[in-house]
Amino acid sequence: MKNVLGLRCIKCGQELPALPGVYTCPSCGPKEGILDVEYDYQAIKRETTREELSQGKERSIFRYLPFLPVKPDTPRPHLRVGMSPLYQPAGLRQSLGLSHLYVKDDGQNPTASLKDRASIIAVIKAVEEGAGTIACSSTGNAASSLAGSAAAMGLKTFIFVPGRAPQGKIAQLLIFGANVISVQGSYEDAFSLSAAAIERFGWYNRNAAINPYLVEGKKTVALEIAEQLNWEVPDWVVLSVGDGCTIAGVWKGFKDLYQVGWIDRLPKIAGVQSTGCSPLADAFLENRPWRPAAENTIADSIAVGVPRNPEKALRAVRESGGTMIAVSDEEILDAMRELGRTSGIFGEPAGVTGTAGLKALVKQGVIKPDEKVVSIVTGNGLKDVQNAIKAAGEPIKVEPSLNELLLKLEGRI
Ligand SMILES: *Cc1c(COP(=O)(O)O)cnc(C)c1O
Ligand SMILES: [Zn+2]
Repeated sequence: MKNVLGLRCIKCGQELPALPGVYTCPSCGPKEGILDVEYDYQAIKRETTREELSQGKERSIFRYLPFLPVKPDTPRPHLRVGMSPLYQPAGLRQSLGLSHLYVKDDGQNPTASLKDRASIIAVIKAVEEGAGTIACSSTGNAASSLAGSAAAMGLKTFIFVPGRAPQGKIAQLLIFGANVISVQGSYEDAFSLSAAAIERFGWYNRNAAINPYLVEGKKTVALEIAEQLNWEVPDWVVLSVGDGCTIAGVWKGFKDLYQVGWIDRLPKIAGVQSTGCSPLADAFLENRPWRPAAENTIADSIAVGVPRNPEKALRAVRESGGTMIAVSDEEILDAMRELGRTSGIFGEPAGVTGTAGLKALVKQGVIKPDEKVVSIVTGNGLKDVQNAIKAAGEPIKVEPSLNELLLKLEGRI
């Protein structure tokens, strides 16, 4: 926290102190007055070097403590968040025709999604502010990650999810002891109800766009990618987009590293949505303000018709010289199969939407075969078994008889 200078409104530029209770810009209001955390980059440079940091023994996001908005001595959940593997998957490189492709498997976090990076920060901030209860609304993963980190710290949670959230995610919430409120309506309805309840009861607010510290947790995925690539920045980072906080976090991470001079250029960022819910991709491609959209996709984690962080998301894509694209649910299911079969990596629909978009961008010639590309898989496939079975089909059913087995396996062996 000692390297944090303060907060700055992304709309009007107003500077605010990084104090408890300050989440949004009072002049611009909670919808548009989204804040960015500003750091003293000179102080970070004086404190450490990238070589020193790379030798650190901490195998979690807290190896990047100088870049995080938390006090070093605040008690932290014991869960290991971050330091997920960055693979060089030979089979997928071949099938996508990308010779320098990397896959960052963020399904390998404690509750099996990238959201753990943000939730652990939310829990630490709640502890710093003396809050005993945290609340959020979520399409599912923010909820289960918050419930997990909060359980590890003994904090109480109230979680608002839309009625459609997959069973795997609900099961996680209940196992972690959360008070789960299943709102019979859209994600937008769940968000609004949680906001009203948070105001009424004074709970700590983990809602991602509102709370400026969460993007800081998400940015650690970019810090890791840079470190894992030996500080050689990829040409592209490709990932799925819902509210827009994750893509904003990725961009913030690379910009922080650029500011301290640890990397000498920035990657292009490609954001991928589903054609069933693509308010931000449409706005970007048609170069117009975004409009609310229906939430009509199997990729539940990015079925966000009213994105909460549209400005930071679009800014990340534009500033980076990147692009956006929308892919169909069929392409998402294809990507799920392809990633699984070529690489042994199992992502949920929103987890592999980035990979589906990458495939389309290669086909369109936007991303070139020899470019260095990182595709982030943002969530694990076991969270949504129903859609996985949709992608992969049914098993071979046999009576317990070798003869029948031989018949059924004909042509397969
Ligand atoms: C939340 C989520 C995303 C998108 O992140 P946003 O910040 O909402 O844009 C993508 N994939 C998975 C698995 C997620 O849980
Ligand atoms: Zn403002």
